[in-house]
Amino acid sequence: MPRVIPHEAMQFLRGALGDDGAIGIAVEGVDQTPAGPRVRFVVPRLRRARVDPQRVPDRDSISELVSRMVAMRWRYGAAPRPVPVESGLVLMETHPEIYSGPTETGDGWHWLLATVAEWIKEGGVPAEWQDEQVKEKYGTLRFYASGVDGRTARILAGAEWVSGAVCETCGAPGRTQASGWVRTACDAHAETHRG
Ligand SMILES: [Zn+2]
Repeated sequence: MPRVIPHEAMQFLRGALGDDGAIGIAVEGVDQTPAGPRVRFVVPRLRRARVDPQRVPDRDSISELVSRMVAMRWRYGAAPRPVPVESGLVLMETHPEIYSGPTETGDGWHWLLATVAEWIKEGGVPAEWQDEQVKEKYGTLRFYASGVDGRTARILAGAEWVSGAVCETCGAPGRTQASGWVRTACDAHAETHRG
């Protein structure tokens, strides 16, 4: 198994949570599973005097989402799977229960959005689920849906946090940056859009 996998998982996690938000989180191991190599994070409890759930990311959900996304990205071997072109159409065809129309993001978020779909379906799609719009704004994901329950709300909120750490073009670890317009990119794709 490539040693880069746990390193990449921590890059996504730190990108999503920030260095402060990721304090204490570490990779405990990587399990080979049918879903791909699953990184096991240790997520210690933080003692906080006050927590505003709108502003403080849920470390457990986000760690689980990153682990699932990395497993999907590395599912079939020693290199990450490239994202498909026309990700929005592929997602609609692959997960019609979640995406009734094409999503409107860069192809780089394909594995992130596919992970969201698989995780929601695994626990059961809420009866009233209706996706409304899935798009990018200011470099991060906006996932609008109705009929969302507590479990799916945590998954969607987690995906919005994680999107700020995933290159919109290729799906590699990236960061949100403003160079002309705000977007999330890896080093390679930040260069091509600079200036
Ligand atoms: Zn990239």
